[in-house]
Amino acid sequence: MDHSQLYVGGRWIPSSGTELIDVVNPYTEQVIAQVPGGSAADVDAAVAAAREALPSWSQTPVGERAAYLSAIAEILGQRTDALAEVVTAEMGCPLKIAKLVQIGTPIGTLKTYAKLAESYQWESEVGNSLIVREPIGVVGAITPWNYPLHQVVAKVAPALLAGCTVVLKPSEVAPLIAYEFAAILDEVGLPAGVFNLVSGTGEVVGEAIAAHPGIDMVSFTGSGRAGKRISQLAAENIKRVALELGGKSASVVLADLDDEAFAKAVRSTVAQCFTNAGQRCTAFSRLLVPAQRYDEALTAAAAAAESTSAGNPMIDGTRLGPLVSDGQRDRVRGFIARAQDNGARVVTGGVDAPEAEPTGYFVRPTVLADVAEDSEIARNEVFGPVIAVFPYDDVDDAVRIANDTDYGLAAGVYGADKDAALAVARRLRAGQVDVNNGRWNFLAPFGGYKQSGNGRELGVAGLEEFLETKAVQL
Ligand code: NAD
Repeated sequence: MDHSQLYVGGRWIPSSGTELIDVVNPYTEQVIAQVPGGSAADVDAAVAAAREALPSWSQTPVGERAAYLSAIAEILGQRTDALAEVVTAEMGCPLKIAKLVQIGTPIGTLKTYAKLAESYQWESEVGNSLIVREPIGVVGAITPWNYPLHQVVAKVAPALLAGCTVVLKPSEVAPLIAYEFAAILDEVGLPAGVFNLVSGTGEVVGEAIAAHPGIDMVSFTGSGRAGKRISQLAAENIKRVALELGGKSASVVLADLDDEAFAKAVRSTVAQCFTNAGQRCTAFSRLLVPAQRYDEALTAAAAAAESTSAGNPMIDGTRLGPLVSDGQRDRVRGFIARAQDNGARVVTGGVDAPEAEPTGYFVRPTVLADVAEDSEIARNEVFGPVIAVFPYDDVDDAVRIANDTDYGLAAGVYGADKDAALAVARRLRAGQVDVNNGRWNFLAPFGGYKQSGNGRELGVAGLEEFLETKAVQL
């Protein structure tokens, strides 16, 4: 499709900016498209359109708003294969996973919100007060590249259902699927101005959104660095800010598992960590195992890493694609090199390029042992296929290590005794904890403790982020 314009006020219009941003396929290393580097004036136009659309959209019956979400989900479902190819081409996620997760998750989110509209209590009574939930207004949504449609839909679906209008700035690294999404919103006949797309860089378009007095709330997913800057700019007019940031999540494998279940828990942790080439904010990048089973864990982790077939992400069977960019690849290799300098042992993987692939920003699936708890690799988000394995003495020690981080996004617990595993889960300071590989739940709130962010996405909590609360005393 054409990516040369912006979607503002229900029309494709040229950007007032002159810059073009290259979109690079991380497997072929070729430029596959260019999008406009939007300007602050483009943001002004998009905000004006969103403000104009707000009174009517916020008064549209919720059932009608939900019907738009269902219609969008329907089209995403029909075009899953083609849309997954767009995501794979722009950010390297293996096609099979792209279909399931990159497109499948947004479909589930849209359908879940469409259904939630029926049961959500928009009004309630407390004593002599009528409590009314109303849309907060115009939402600025700023999203990253690693799940480029999911992160858009996790904001846009609840915002639209709430009655808000939206100005979206997708990641400039992987903006193409957001263009497809805008075209679908246009196709389902969403009223003009309800959704607006302004592509561009974080420094120009992102900051203009964060600072804009016409925007009532910013919902951001991305790095802590950008999250802090957005919060500072948004403070000028006391905008609400929701932040979904990074993580350094731990998977705690408990001692009561038999050999087979123990190896399975390690494999499951490694697979979770390496999904999307480790470019996931919830990656279990720290594997915590009983000290007496450390070698057993390293052997199982290395086997799992070595069986993670890397290659062309368009080919069926590939489980590990390239990283999103050469910069990201170099960053991750730098983490591995400095970990080695600090005494970590590479059990498998390492800084060398994989031999088989002539092109692509690959990092070998890497397992690190003997990692100092206070070292850079133990404390910083790597965002690549790198897992560090730590020994613990007893359950208290495991909980201590797991919680010894500035982040608090996710965690895993594996154990034979489910109650004991749940007891550990209760002690972890993280927003979502999976016990024994617990299944994804579209109704569950998603978000972080500590420096992993503020607020929640998905489910009722994700909808309420976009609502104001009014108490009317009668
Ligand atoms: P990033 O922060 O560099 O960029 C994210 C978005 O913010 C992009 O659209 C970017 O253009 C914009 N941006 C950058 N600087 C900005 C600024 N000064 N003002 C306004 N906007 C700005 O992050 P990234 O590299 O795209 O994504 C990786 C990061 O995202 C990782 O840290 C990862 O953990 C995090 N992440 C978090 C979640 C979550 O839900 N918690 C999900 C995915 C990714």
